[in-house]
Amino acid sequence: MHHFHYRNGRLHCEDVSLDDIADAVGTPVYVYSSATFRRHARVIGEAFEGMDCLIAYSVKANGNLGVLKTLAAEGCGADVVSGGELKRARAAGIPASKIVFSGVGKTREEIRLGLGEGIHQFNIESAAELSVLAEEAQALGRTAYVAVRVNPDVAAGGHPNISTGKAGDKFGVPWDDAEKAYDQIAATAGVEAVGVDVHIGSQIDQIAPMRAAFERVVSLIKRLREKGHSISRVDVGGGLGIPYRDTDSPPPPAEYANMIRDVTEGLGLQVILEPGRVIAGNAGVMVTEALYIKPAPERTFLIVDAGMNDLMRPALYQAHHEFMPLRERGASDETTTYDVVGPICESTDKFAAERTMPVMEQGDRIAIMSAGAYGAALSSQYNARPLVAEVLVNGDKFSVVRRRPSFDEMIALETTPDWLS
Ligand SMILES: *Cc1c(COP(=O)(O)O)cnc(C)c1O
Repeated sequence: MHHFHYRNGRLHCEDVSLDDIADAVGTPVYVYSSATFRRHARVIGEAFEGMDCLIAYSVKANGNLGVLKTLAAEGCGADVVSGGELKRARAAGIPASKIVFSGVGKTREEIRLGLGEGIHQFNIESAAELSVLAEEAQALGRTAYVAVRVNPDVAAGGHPNISTGKAGDKFGVPWDDAEKAYDQIAATAGVEAVGVDVHIGSQIDQIAPMRAAFERVVSLIKRLREKGHSISRVDVGGGLGIPYRDTDSPPPPAEYANMIRDVTEGLGLQVILEPGRVIAGNAGVMVTEALYIKPAPERTFLIVDAGMNDLMRPALYQAHHEFMPLRERGASDETTTYDVVGPICESTDKFAAERTMPVMEQGDRIAIMSAGAYGAALSSQYNARPLVAEVLVNGDKFSVVRRRPSFDEMIALETTPDWLS
């Protein structure tokens, strides 16, 4: 469900025409729907109604402050994977008591930041990290509340590059070492075990692998409790998939919630969720303009003004995104087949190959759909292109929530060594 639709022949986000935004802000530009963000947060909240549940939105999916503030107002917490994301979440008004800190390589400085803020939970991924956390907690005279991220050895995720729960993946403490990690925590000052954490991948379109992983986690929680560890939380990570194509049918949040309700039944656990994509994915599009149409042997290239630096998912994961022209076409309008490419000097700078779509003209605009998660968040200035702008829509209003930097701003961090000046 999202709030991008045609009205009077023009694609709108809520009550705002995307053409009006593109005219005002230029292209490429990301456009986010507040209503869609809010709706997704509410649907997930309602699915878990009656359970003790913390929705810790995964900031890495889309960490724009406008987005974070929108979700904070819905009562969401945050899952952060860096000190920068922790600062973003706090700057957006998300209380530290709703923040969990994940990630396989937290630096000492980042750990100190989390301790100083007094966050809800550190998700620990190795014995070595645990030692550093304990040292820093002792030095600050604080207690760090810890969940060990375990690797349940379950394959999942929409692409090998986004599977994180197999034995060979870098993530999580190996399954057979998990209990030892809790013994280490019990024997160490400054750290207190409160939960078990798992996150097996992203864009997961089946319930079964998640259920398998969570059942393993629950069996571990029961064993840990028998050994005297007081485990009161389970962090089930993120990973729920979204429909990128009309034919995709990922499990709805209610089915996911019912599975978790079932698996954790009677254990009195706080359930921590770390949804990213399922909240942000369909809440954003990227609007781009056709620069040139270039016929070539065997194919025609539609060259647009957005590049892989602005939306990396197709180049990184062979991801599929639907396109919607901003000007609505009729069912009888002519279609053709394009390779949709950007201006970047890389052959992977391609948003789609042999895509059947309406005939386009120079200057026509399209929305690249489902770009709200891992879109702007992964953007770069490659090819000395300014960072893509971001706009947040709310009803009939829109606001530029990240403007494009000027050229001077782009080079402001660079200095000329004295032997060159
Ligand atoms: C990326 C990530 C998430 C969010 O994953 P989605 O597939 O976007 O829901 C949650 N938890 C951790 C630890 C992650 O790395």
